[in-house]
Amino acid sequence: MIRPGGKWENWGRTVRVRPLRVERPHSVEAVQRAVVAAARSGLRVKAVGAGHSFTGIAVAPDVLLDMSALQGVIDVDPQRQRVRMYAGTRLHQIPALLRPHGLAMQNLGDIDRQSISGATATGTHGTGAAFGGISTQIVGATFVDAAGEVHAVAEDDPLLPAIALGLGALGIVVDITLQCVPAYVLHALERPEPLDAVLAELPARVAAADHFEFYWFPHTETALTKTDTRLPADAPRRPLPALGRWVDETLLSNGLFRVVCALGTVIPAIIPAFARIAVRATGNREYTDVSNRVLTQRRTVRFREMEYAIPAEHVGAALGELRALIAERRWRISFPVEVRFAASDDLWLSTAYGRASAYIAVHRYHRENPSEYFEGFERIMLAYGGRPHWGKMHTLDAAQLAERYPRFADFVAARDRLDPEGRFTNTYLDRVLGVPPQRR
Ligand SMILES: Cc1cc2nc3c(=O)[nH]c(=O)nc-3n(C[C@H](O)[C@H](O)[C@H](O)COP(=O)(O)OP(=O)(O)OC[C@H]3O[C@@H](n4cnc5c(N)ncnc54)[C@H](O)[C@@H]3O)c2cc1C
Repeated sequence: MIRPGGKWENWGRTVRVRPLRVERPHSVEAVQRAVVAAARSGLRVKAVGAGHSFTGIAVAPDVLLDMSALQGVIDVDPQRQRVRMYAGTRLHQIPALLRPHGLAMQNLGDIDRQSISGATATGTHGTGAAFGGISTQIVGATFVDAAGEVHAVAEDDPLLPAIALGLGALGIVVDITLQCVPAYVLHALERPEPLDAVLAELPARVAAADHFEFYWFPHTETALTKTDTRLPADAPRRPLPALGRWVDETLLSNGLFRVVCALGTVIPAIIPAFARIAVRATGNREYTDVSNRVLTQRRTVRFREMEYAIPAEHVGAALGELRALIAERRWRISFPVEVRFAASDDLWLSTAYGRASAYIAVHRYHRENPSEYFEGFERIMLAYGGRPHWGKMHTLDAAQLAERYPRFADFVAARDRLDPEGRFTNTYLDRVLGVPPQRR
C-alpha cells in the first residue's frame, strides 16, 4: 500500500520503497505513455497490484504503476464462458462481475484481496488435485512491452505459457481473459483428525476430493482437514450462520490468534498449549455456500510466509522431516503449516510445471524473526526438488532456479527479447532471472 508521504510497503511488511513517482493509469494508452516516458528518462517501471507478495517482486524504486484504476469486465463470451477483464481487477470483485453471466472462477487461493494480474504473475494457487493455479485459467492477455507497444496474446500464441505467469518481468499486463466455469456451490467439511491417519491415506483422500487441504498445528498431532465437494449452482445452500462465522473467522482465527501470536513473542512457552486448544476449538464445521465464499477467508493477523511446491508423492516424507526438525530445535511455532495440492501444468515458470504438486507453506508472525525456521524448512524442501512460490519468501537465485524449471532458459530468452534494457526489473527479478543483456 502507498502511505501518505509516498512510501510503499507490502502486506507482510518485508519490503518498502519510496518510488520516484507513482502513476495511476486509467487506460491502455496511459500505460503506454508511462512506459515510454520512463524509458526516455532511463527509469524502470513496475506495475503493482495489492502488494500481497512477501518477496520484493513488486518493489518499484523508480516509477510505480498503481493498476487500481484499470478494473472491471471488458467483454464476455457466453458461449465459451470466457471473460476479459482489466488487469487491476481485485479477486474479491470478480464473483459479482461473473454472477450476472452465471459464471465463476474455476478455483481460488485462500484470500481474495489480490489483483488478478498480481495473483497470476506470481503463480497464486488454491488446492485440488485436478486444478491448476489461477494462471492456468488464463486463455488470453494483452500487455505493453518495454517499447510501449501493445501485444494481444491469444490462446494458441506460443508466448501465452510465459505471459500467464510472467513475474511482471515481460511487460505491463493490461487485460486478462479467464476461462470460467458455470457457477457452482461447494459443500465444505472441516474436521480435526489424527495427522498420522491423514498422512497414511493422503493420496486417496486427495484424489477422491475436488479440493482437499489440511493445516497442521506444530506441537499437536492433529490435522485440521478441509474437504470441498463441487455441486451445481442450484444445490441447496447451508451457509455458516453469520455469528458462527464471525466467532470462527474473526474472533478465533484472527482476533484471539493475534493476541496469542503477540503474547507468544514474549512468552513462547504458551504456544504449544494454545495450539492444542486451537485444534479443539476450530476446524469442526460443515456448510454449503457459493464457491468463492467457501474457498477464501479473511486473514488479518499479519505474517511472513515461505511456500514450496514438491512432487505430490513426497509430501508425507517432507512433512515428517519438518515435524522432526521443529521438535529437535525446540522451536515454538504459533502458525499452522498449510498443505495443498495442484494438478501438473505447462506454464513455463509454474511451480507445478510438469508434475502433480503438493504445496507446503510455513508462516511466522510478522514480529518474529522467521530466518531459522524458514532456512530449515527450505533445506528440506530443496532436497525434495522444491520450487519456491514466486510471491513468498525464499533464497534461491537464477542459477538455482534454472535447475528446477525445464523451460527457465526459454522464459529468460523471452524476457531478454521483450525487455532487453530491464525496464521492468528490480532487485528481486535481477536475482531470480538474472540481469537483462543491456544492463549487464
Ligand atoms: C494473506 C495472504 C494470503 C495469500 N494466500 C495465497 C494463497 O492462498 N495462494 C497463493 O498461491 N498465494 C497466496 N498469497 C500470495 C499472493 O497471492 C501473491 O503474492 C500475489 O502476487 C499477490 O497479488 P498482488 O495483487 O498483491 O500482487 P503484487 O504483490 O502487488 O505484485 C506481484 C507481482 O505481479 C506483478 N504485477 C502486478 N500487476 C501487474 C500487471 N498489471 N502487469 C504486470 N505485472 C504485474 C508485480 O509487478 C509483481 O511482480 C497470499 C498472500 C497474502 C499476503
